[in-house]
Amino acid sequence: MRLTTLFLLALISSGLQAQEKPIWDVLITDAQIFTGSETLVRTDIAVHNGTIVAIGPELDRQQRANQMIDGTGKTLIPGLMNTHVHTWFPAHLQQAAKAGVLGVCDMHGSAFAVQWLSQFNDSIGYADYHAAGSGATVPKGHGTQFGIPVPTIDSTRSAREFVLERIAEGVDYIKILREPMRPTLTFEQIDTIIQTAHENGVKAVAHVSRCGDGVELAKRGIDGLVHIWFDRTMTEEELEIFATRDDMFIVPTALTNMKLLEFLKEQDRDMGSVIDSTTLLKEIGRLYDVGIDVLAGTDPPNFNINHGTDLYEELRLLAAAGIPVDDCLAGATAKSADHFELPGQHRLEVGSPASFILLPGNPLQDLGILYDLEQVWQDGNLIFDSSKP
Ligand SMILES: [Zn+2]
Repeated sequence: MRLTTLFLLALISSGLQAQEKPIWDVLITDAQIFTGSETLVRTDIAVHNGTIVAIGPELDRQQRANQMIDGTGKTLIPGLMNTHVHTWFPAHLQQAAKAGVLGVCDMHGSAFAVQWLSQFNDSIGYADYHAAGSGATVPKGHGTQFGIPVPTIDSTRSAREFVLERIAEGVDYIKILREPMRPTLTFEQIDTIIQTAHENGVKAVAHVSRCGDGVELAKRGIDGLVHIWFDRTMTEEELEIFATRDDMFIVPTALTNMKLLEFLKEQDRDMGSVIDSTTLLKEIGRLYDVGIDVLAGTDPPNFNINHGTDLYEELRLLAAAGIPVDDCLAGATAKSADHFELPGQHRLEVGSPASFILLPGNPLQDLGILYDLEQVWQDGNLIFDSSKP
C-alpha cells in the first residue's frame, strides 16, 4: 500500500474516532426511577464524570455512552442513608456501601473517629461518614459505660463549652443523651445545648427512651429524636405537641427497640412499664400521621445489627407501621439528606452524584427486593455487582 493511502486511512479513522467519542460514561434505559421523592416510570438516566447529567424518558439514544444498561423491569433508587449508627472501623463503612448504604450518621463516637473515619469520605467503596462525635452526657450517664473516654458536662465543662468543643472537632451535629436509667442531663442543660448548637448553625438531636422526655424535647426545640420511646404511648394532647413541630424528624430505630424489648423479656429485666412491639409500630405511625418525618436508622452494632442489609429490615418495619413505602424510602434517602443538610445527595436529580442502587424489581411493591440488589454505584463507580462474585 502506498504511503499516501495509509496517510489518508489514518486521517479517516482518527476523524471517525473523534466523531464517535462517547459523551456519557453510563446510560441506563427504561428503568423505573425513585428519585428520593417521586417515582418516574420508564425513564433513562445518563452519568458522566461521577454526576447525573440527564434524566428523562427516551434520552437521545444516538448519543453514545461507554456503557449501556437495559433497565427494563428494574428500579433505580438513590444510595441509602442510615441515620443512626455507631461506626468504629472503616470496614463498617465498606459493609454499608456494599449494601447500598452510602451515608451513615454516627450518633455517639469520639473525636478520634470523627477525624479518622471522615477521611474515607473521598474514597470509593466507603459510606460517607457524618458524626456527632461524643454525645452530650454527665458523669456516669448513658454513653459513659462503653469503655471509651467521654467528655462529660460537669463542674469543669459547661453545656455551652461542650457544644463549642464538639464544633471545633468538626462534628456535623450535636447529640444529646437524655436517659433517666442513669444520671442524666437536666432540661436546663439541654436548653443550653440546643441553643448553642443553633447559634452555631448545627442541629441538635437526642436519645430518649421515655415518652415524657420525647414530648419535653419536642417542646424545647430539638431538631430530631434518634429513638422512639418504649415506656408508654402518647396522649392525644402530647401528640398535638408533635403536630405543631412538623419541621422535626424521628429516627425511631424500630428494629433496635424491638430487639431491646425481646431482650428485656428474655432476661426478665425490670425496666418499669414497657409497650409491646405492635404498639411501638403504632406509635411511629401516629407521629408520621401528624407530619413528623420518619427516617431510617438501625443503631448498629447494638444487638449485632449490621451496617448494611439490616437497614432493609428497618424499612419493612416502617412500612408495617403504616408509612407508605415511597415515604419509607424517602426517609432513607432524600428526607434524611434534607434533615442532615446534605443538599443534592441521596436523590436522583441532574447535578447529583451518580450514587444509586439498581434493583431487579419494584421496591414500592415489595421492599424485600432490596435483598436482591444487582448493582451499587457510587459517584459513577460500580462498587457492587451481584453478577460478579
Ligand atoms: Zn445509638
